[in-house]
Amino acid sequence: MQLCDDTGEKVPTGWTVTGASFEVEWPKDPQVASGIRSHFGARRFAYNWALAKVKSDMDAKRTDVSYPSTPWTLEALRKRWNQEKNEVAPWWGDNSKEAYASGIADLVRALSNWSSSKHGRRKGRKVGFPKFKSKRKDRNRVRFTTGTMGFEDDHRTIVLPMIGALRSMENTRRIQRHLAKNNARLLKRTLSQRWGRLFVSCQLAIKTSVVTPPSATMSKKDPRAGVDLGLRSLATIADSNGGITAIPNPAPLRATMNERRRVGRNLIRRIPGSHGHRQAKAKLVKLDRKAVYVRRESIHQLTCYLVDNYSEVKIEDLNIAAMGRSMGRRALRRSVSDAGLGAFKPTLTYKAERAGVKVVVVDRFFPSSQIHHNCTGRLTGAKLAKRLICDTCHVEVDRDENASLNIRDWSVISCGPVGSSALPVPRPFGTGGSCDDGMTHHRKRERKTASNTGGAQRGKNDPRASENEARRKNLEKGASSE
Ligand SMILES: [Zn+2]
Repeated sequence: MQLCDDTGEKVPTGWTVTGASFEVEWPKDPQVASGIRSHFGARRFAYNWALAKVKSDMDAKRTDVSYPSTPWTLEALRKRWNQEKNEVAPWWGDNSKEAYASGIADLVRALSNWSSSKHGRRKGRKVGFPKFKSKRKDRNRVRFTTGTMGFEDDHRTIVLPMIGALRSMENTRRIQRHLAKNNARLLKRTLSQRWGRLFVSCQLAIKTSVVTPPSATMSKKDPRAGVDLGLRSLATIADSNGGITAIPNPAPLRATMNERRRVGRNLIRRIPGSHGHRQAKAKLVKLDRKAVYVRRESIHQLTCYLVDNYSEVKIEDLNIAAMGRSMGRRALRRSVSDAGLGAFKPTLTYKAERAGVKVVVVDRFFPSSQIHHNCTGRLTGAKLAKRLICDTCHVEVDRDENASLNIRDWSVISCGPVGSSALPVPRPFGTGGSCDDGMTHHRKRERKTASNTGGAQRGKNDPRASENEARRKNLEKGASSE
């Protein structure tokens, strides 16, 4: 497989791009610490400088079509930076040239995202034109692609160009052993600040060891599993014998919610800039950080469990973004992002590839929670109810367990004979596929009229009207995938 890293460089076959992140201590030496901040600022400065050039070029082009504007490429903008840097930033020598290059590269990326989104070449949410970065809002970071890329032999020290040695909080051996054996090549390193802490993330290409999955008879793994991701429990796994394993949701935010509420109340009572305000803010940040770590860990444990125990894993193709928007109630939306479901698929995919496990993504419009697995009858119940009742055999089933079984047998259900009472299996939009059921059609029509009147009331020129329309469409998609 040919992989590309961000710079567009081809990674040869047999190599995989992967990353490792280490938290590093803020240097005790105030000079080194201010050097780090200076690098963050330099990246932002170059980004804003390049954006100002691009904007003034566009304005000049509007009045004079023959105006020679700088192309939106890293090379061209960097060349222009090198011509002008003595004038606009006489202090440029204080920071590594990589700091400026990474700012310009980020702008080039943002411009290309905007342009492909505008011309319909990019999926997903519309990307706006890049904005100037403010010190308050921009996340502090700087990327190094060349220069000293060293780790020291104590397995604790990471050396960055111009900045120097930083002490890692974690042993760096796990990537150094690859580098020592010449099995890996460092592509780039990013120094960034989050929650007031410093992190160095390394992107590296590693020689992939060829994994030959053991033959079905030799393998001790269960041949197949269906995974239903959810909010009640993080995942419900149906194995080939019909056994159900429910992985509980750690819901880290919910656990810390009371604590956050208390600290949040404390924070607004403090005077901004005071010692107490800083203290309360630090507490809040600590709770958030904890939540992120617990969430990440639970996704890692789940994906490792799946890859270790099954040779084929079927998962749903959830539209997490739409789910987060559509669930309606704030608490539900919060639990969608709380569960960190978005990280599940990418994490599972790369782990499965390494272990030779097959991942099957079930069609987004497969109504896994509406078909009774035993009799293919239709299930009814409240929108998010845990127990559902079958229309045909009147058996009460657990929504998540039933859905995981349906996902496990996905291809069987969609190809095999379907009972008259069963739902038609929907196909993706655009192929003339049927929708979930009559109810949905009815709801859709209702919503459409509602949105039309809403748009008329607000006036045709209101950009919110079309935005809401688009959101509503997404919402329906989300609801039908649920
Ligand atoms: Zn039934």
